[in-house]
Amino acid sequence: MKRINLISDTITKPSKDMLSYMMQAEVGDDVFRLDPTVNALEEKVASMFGKEAALFCPSGTMTNQIAIKTHTQPLDELICEKTSHVYQYETGGYSFNSGVAINLIDGHHGKITAEQVKQAIKPNYDWLPNSRLVVIENSCNKGGGSYYTLDEIRPITSVCSASKLSFHLDGARLFNVLVETGETTQAVGDLFDSISICISKGLSAPVGSLLTGDAAFIARARKFRKVMGGGMRQAGYLAAACIYALDNNIDQLKLDNANAKAIGQELSNLSYVTDVKPVKTNIVIFSLDVSIDVGSYIESLEKLNIVASQFGAHEVRFVTHNGFSESQIDDLFTRLGQIKLN
Ligand SMILES: *Cc1c(COP(=O)(O)O)cnc(C)c1O
Repeated sequence: MKRINLISDTITKPSKDMLSYMMQAEVGDDVFRLDPTVNALEEKVASMFGKEAALFCPSGTMTNQIAIKTHTQPLDELICEKTSHVYQYETGGYSFNSGVAINLIDGHHGKITAEQVKQAIKPNYDWLPNSRLVVIENSCNKGGGSYYTLDEIRPITSVCSASKLSFHLDGARLFNVLVETGETTQAVGDLFDSISICISKGLSAPVGSLLTGDAAFIARARKFRKVMGGGMRQAGYLAAACIYALDNNIDQLKLDNANAKAIGQELSNLSYVTDVKPVKTNIVIFSLDVSIDVGSYIESLEKLNIVASQFGAHEVRFVTHNGFSESQIDDLFTRLGQIKLN
């Protein structure tokens, strides 16, 4: 049985063409800003989003953490949805790195509204932290790959501007959204002070995330990258992979999204599946009947050479990527149908 690994789109590896593109990169010492390929990638991403500058980092955790650090001071507060990556999966870095408080909004499939943000903003009293920054995620990982359209984001941008809050986008999987909506990176750029994107997920570069914003913001962010140990030397080999990915791999995400939707449709026919979150991009989150232990279910999947992640007390997550093709869907369901429960 061929292995079907749907644990994450981060398992994607560079293609031969990407590797040869990396091999021919011109490199230099990026800490001295002398790596022409890193400079080219940063200029490319800034101009895609209509921003003045960008910063190449080893991970999306780092770009988010640097963004929080650059936008805030200790005693400030960050507002975000309760399932967001910056809260759940960055080791509490908002507190460790930035000394900020966090104000969690209970959203819908990971999404929050302008009205909720407005209600969350604190008045200016000595005994309250200063509301300073709003972070949203697009697509929303724990929301089951749900997404905001620009029309849904615009009112949040207005609330942030009116209250002088900074607005950051965790766009780790932003391109999975844009291939669905047809919206442009330029239009996204207009709505945020800063944006983080990951190239190491479905776009399948081995390493790499970027943070983009205005020149003064990125100049400060660059210092924080250095103090966090993220100043890399001949990083141009990695930057080349990201340039290659942005030029060649965005279309693949349409297929990944389509495969996830097809999987989502069929899952609801399995007797032991009680709920499937609406599938909007390349993430499928489904719930098992309460009588089933998720840990044992994941083990049963592994026996059938299927890899998935547990995503809550009764939930399982599949993420599609270029290592899974439409032709494998039937095989996947044949195996899922064979699972013996209790
Ligand atoms: C993957 C991811 C990140 C960043 O993760 P790294 O593994 O640190 O690159 C940030 N936000 C979201 C929503 C993600 O899915």
